Amino acid sequence: MANAIAPPEEVLMGAWNRPRGEVLEGWHVDLELPVVHAALLNTSQPAWSHPSATAYIPTLTFPSEMPAQSSLDYPEMKELFSRNLSWSRAMWKKDPEFFPMHYPGQRPEFLWIGCSDARVPETTIMGCQPGEIFVHRNVANTYHPHDDSINSVMMIALFNFKVKHIVVTGHTNCVGCNQALNVSKLPAVPASTSLQRFLAPTATLARSLWTEDGPPTLDLLVEENVVQQVKNLLASDIIAEDWRRRGVDGVTIHGWVYHLEDGTIRDLNISQGPPGSVPGKKTKNGDFF
Ligand SMILES: [Zn+2]
Repeated sequence: MANAIAPPEEVLMGAWNRPRGEVLEGWHVDLELPVVHAALLNTSQPAWSHPSATAYIPTLTFPSEMPAQSSLDYPEMKELFSRNLSWSRAMWKKDPEFFPMHYPGQRPEFLWIGCSDARVPETTIMGCQPGEIFVHRNVANTYHPHDDSINSVMMIALFNFKVKHIVVTGHTNCVGCNQALNVSKLPAVPASTSLQRFLAPTATLARSLWTEDGPPTLDLLVEENVVQQVKNLLASDIIAEDWRRRGVDGVTIHGWVYHLEDGTIRDLNISQGPPGSVPGKKTKNGDFF
């Protein structure tokens, strides 16, 4: 961590659109083109390198044969780079060790399975920092047993990082659940799009919740969908393998609902750990689980 030094603001700002390899005010621009400011390295203290230090040389030929553009040519995208720069600068100022400390690796204790909804960014709503939560988000926080994407995330979370908790979090006014609810109100037809196929089990769940009074409320479906995904996880081969490997120290599954109305997370009280596990009991490593 010898050179955990934030480049000065004028250097960061001046890095925009500067070519890799250029020395700028004593700082070496060593990052992907065009412009990622955070990879400015202090060449006087080359103790660590940045993950994006390898230059990207665009040699792709796109099917349209249109010339590639810089994202910075699009004002709304340039605004995102500007915000990122502000954030990076603030982080450097607040804690010069932050980025050097995070670059070598991660050790999250939690896996969040949540909805893709833009209003439910897990790290933000729980006041966490980058590095604290491993994440998979998809439409309506869904676990399908044969989904290689989510299974890959779970394998890394459990077998590499040995996360202690997996949280399935639904949220009120979920567009995905609402769509499944609407589908349940129509005659059953074969799903013909990716989204219809993905939501088909949730639509089936919605149908199962109909009573003589009519369809379930969206709030009920959101809760029951979380319960169902927790059940799906508990029945999965990967969780079984984790519990076999780690015994009582294996992962615990939780079900939550985030309320958009007031920004609070509410527990559904359906947490389930491996047989014999006790909440708060210390493991042999001295950690709580
Ligand atoms: Zn949603």
